[in-house]
This record gives sequence, C-alpha cells and structure tokens, in this order.
Amino acid sequence: MEDFSYDDLDDLYGEVIMDHYRHPKNRGEISNPDISSEGFNPFCGDRIILELAISKTGNIDRISFNGEGCSISQATASMMTENIKGRTLSEASNLSDIFRSMLHGNSPSTVDLDKLNDLISLQGVRKFPIRIKCALLTWAALDDGIREYTMNHP
Ligand code: ZN
Repeated sequence: MEDFSYDDLDDLYGEVIMDHYRHPKNRGEISNPDISSEGFNPFCGDRIILELAISKTGNIDRISFNGEGCSISQATASMMTENIKGRTLSEASNLSDIFRSMLHGNSPSTVDLDKLNDLISLQGVRKFPIRIKCALLTWAALDDGIREYTMNHP
C-alpha cells in the first residue's frame, strides 16, 4: 500500500500526523462498549473499529479504536478519540460536522478552530481528494455508531 506523501503538506502538520500514527492514542479495545462501529475504505484498504462507553449523563466515558490502514486514516482516528473523550455525543457529532466541512474546503471559524485543536493538522489533506476518504473514515464510523445508539436510546 502506497503511503501518504507529505511533500505538499506543512512540515509541522506532517509531524503531528506522523506522531499520532507512530504513537496512537486510545488504540485497543474497551470492555462493555455501548457503541461499537466499524468503517472500511475500499479505495485504500483502511479499516477502523470504534468502541465507546457512554455515561449516564451521555458523555463519552471511554473510547478506543482499532484497525489498520494508511497513516492518515489511523492518525485521524487517534486524534479524534483524544478530542471527543469526555464530550457529549452531540458535541462529538458537532465536531464531526466541523471536520467534514473543513475537508470539503470551508475555512473553520475561530470558534471551530478551537474545537478542532490538533485536528487542524489534517486540513492539508483536502488538497488530495483520494485521501479525503481516509481522513473521514473514522468520523463516518462515529456518525454511524452515534445514530444507532441514539435510535436505541431515544
Ligand atoms: Zn487511507
């Protein structure tokens, strides 16, 4: 599998991405997840399995991801889990919308920049249309998982 070339990305951002790829956060499994969701990107062979435990107050208590694939897909999953841990499901959905909007070419507002945190390092991926699916895979799995959980817990 050909990996991502960082030649056209800002060096600093490339470093943030590679750091998450090499030293992923929240990689593994959790016990008794309330949400378990999987995403597959046939274009690149990326696979992401997300597990979330939701507290009584509706916050993401624990979260993990597993899978394999290119650095963009795995680094995004690592960053995403770090950024939504402790948040409510609606905050997580909101961040998903902001991230998707950024990759589709919209400039994040100041408020959104704050929410994106280090996820902003993936902004340059939008210059590589084939890689956008890689960066959105973990968010698609998150959205699916939240949708299903919300249907079962109205
Ligand atoms: Zn990929």
